[in-house]
This record gives sequence, C-alpha cells and structure tokens, in this order.
Amino acid sequence: MSETTIDFKKHPHRRKNILTGEWLLVSPQRTQRPWQGKVESLPPDQRSSYDPKCYLCPGNKRAGGDANPEYKSCFSFTNDYSALEIDTPENIFNVNDLLVAKGQSGICRVICFSPRHDLTLPQLSVENISDVIELWCDEFKSLSENKNVRYILFFENKGEIMGCSNPHPHGQIWASSSIPNEIAKEQASQRDYLDAHKTCLLCDYVRLEQSEGERIIFEDENVVVLVPFWAIWPFEAMVIGKRHAGSIPELGSSERSGLARSLIRLTQKYDRLFNVSFPYSMGFHQRPSDGDGHEEWHLHAHFFPPLLRSATIRKFMVGYELLAGPQRDITPESAVERLKEA
Ligand SMILES: [Zn+2]
Ligand SMILES: [Zn+2]
Ligand SMILES: [Zn+2]
Repeated sequence: MSETTIDFKKHPHRRKNILTGEWLLVSPQRTQRPWQGKVESLPPDQRSSYDPKCYLCPGNKRAGGDANPEYKSCFSFTNDYSALEIDTPENIFNVNDLLVAKGQSGICRVICFSPRHDLTLPQLSVENISDVIELWCDEFKSLSENKNVRYILFFENKGEIMGCSNPHPHGQIWASSSIPNEIAKEQASQRDYLDAHKTCLLCDYVRLEQSEGERIIFEDENVVVLVPFWAIWPFEAMVIGKRHAGSIPELGSSERSGLARSLIRLTQKYDRLFNVSFPYSMGFHQRPSDGDGHEEWHLHAHFFPPLLRSATIRKFMVGYELLAGPQRDITPESAVERLKEA
C-alpha cells in the first residue's frame, strides 16, 4: 500500500507524535455528529486592576508572611505552597520491584506577568512580555546553577476550567532533580533522530511544515506558530524558533521580541476564536539543566487548550482516551483554518 492512500479528511487514521513516539487517533468522519453533552456556564469576568485579597498583586501579603514588592512589570518568588522542596533526600524505595519510589527534590517558583490583576497574557504589551522573558532567562540561569536541579519547566495554567485558582496573570517554574516524563520521551526522540539523520528533528520538521504550509497559523522571521500534525487538543499549537537553540537564554534579542510578539498574537487569536478569554495550559520545553550540552534539544512551547466547539463546550480526555489513547474528530488542518481566520 502506498503512503498516499489515506484521505485525511475522510478516513480514520493514526498519526505519530514524533516528539513522544505516541500515536493519536483521528476520526474526521465524525465531525458532523450531533452534540448532546454538557453545556458549561461561563465564569464571570469582571475584575478590578487591583485586588486587596490577591496574593499576587503588588504590595499584598502572601501566605508565608512575606509581602510582594510594589513591582511595576513582572516579579518572581518561591511558592509558599511548593510541590517540591530543595532539601528532600533522594532515597530509593523498592519492595521486590513491586512498590518503587524515589525521593525528589526541587524548587517551585511563581512568576507574576504583570502588576495588573485584571489583564491576561494577550492583553499585555510586547515590552511587558519581553520583561517576562528576561526574568525567565534569569530564573533559568540561577536555578540551573543548583546541582540538584536537572530540569526547569516554565508553564502557565490559564482559566478556572484548567484549575487555575487565581486569575492574576502568572506562571509557574518547577525545577526538579529528575527529568519529567514528557521531557524524557521528547529527549529520547530528539536524540534518536539526531543520531539517525545527523540533523535536528524540529529544525527539519519546521522546514517541512514551511514547504507544505498547511498547518502554519503564522510565522515571522524568527518564529513559526503551527498546529502540529499530531495535535491531540482541538486547537493545540506549538511555538517553535526557526534557529536551533536549546533554551530561552540562548535566544538573541530579536528572537526574544519575536517570541513575545508570537505569544501575544497566538493568545489574541485564541480569545477571538470563541469570543472568550481562552483557557489553556502552556509551557516551554527546553533542554535539561543536567550539565550535558543536549545538542539534540530544540526549544519550543506547547499550548494545550481544552475548548472544542464554543466557549462552553470543552474536550474531555475520558473513555477511550484514558484507557487506550488520545482521539480527535476535527482534523489539525481544519483547526488551523479556524485559527488563521480568528
Ligand atoms: Zn492580583
Ligand atoms: Zn533544531
Ligand atoms: Zn515538547
């Protein structure tokens, strides 16, 4: 059978995530089936620019007793409710290879993107996001100096639907002594590809997508923003730098401002898609900070938004997805069309 016999618009098929090695089931023929699921009510979105009860607003006191400074742009601090602690012993626990555990140390920090309680990332200025990127660079450098830190993840959960408890624009930084699951998978795939092809997996992937053009939402001289061929979430996107770099501190100044503009442009499109402040989990995948050079790593960001068909209809990962593997109905290519128009 030739490789061109799948009709992506008609035939159910599986697509491979080249970063994780996992497969996605696409069922394009189901897009027309009637919706009989739950309709959620929209959370109220009336906020003032300052909330005296918010632990992230400038000048306010936090749970640990410290007060935030009167910061003017962005600000980071160690989480008062950290999921990781730096002095945890890394002891190994193993009962007959059946009960297996390992101590994990780390540092969790919070980064406020803006002093304004009422704004979200798509409403911030390029200068403001550029300041956030500079702060990410400082955090990456200082955290990677700690010998107990082998991986640093920058991420943001936006929206109540994603379990974000505070609407103040902020992200998190988790620095851990182990390489997390998703990173380990992506590292192995990028390493294998480099060994086999002598070129970088994402450099080659970006060039292929540029020549096909079908899944690119937009691009500029530094950055490509696309819906990956293997996207699981309805409007999932990736932000990928055109030049090979493993971490945000390796970006030059024009690449950093290109990244800032891309983050704003993508999230503005998201907001316009269903005319709602669009929820998502996003994060940067950078090279591990374990002392190796990791030439195989190509810095990128993932956006995983849950909304499917409107401001109130979301995708759930249940049933087949929990028990077998991810599945989607609308194709990544039709999601791109929607995002281009938004
Ligand atoms: Zn606030
Ligand atoms: Zn590359
Ligand atoms: Zn990734």
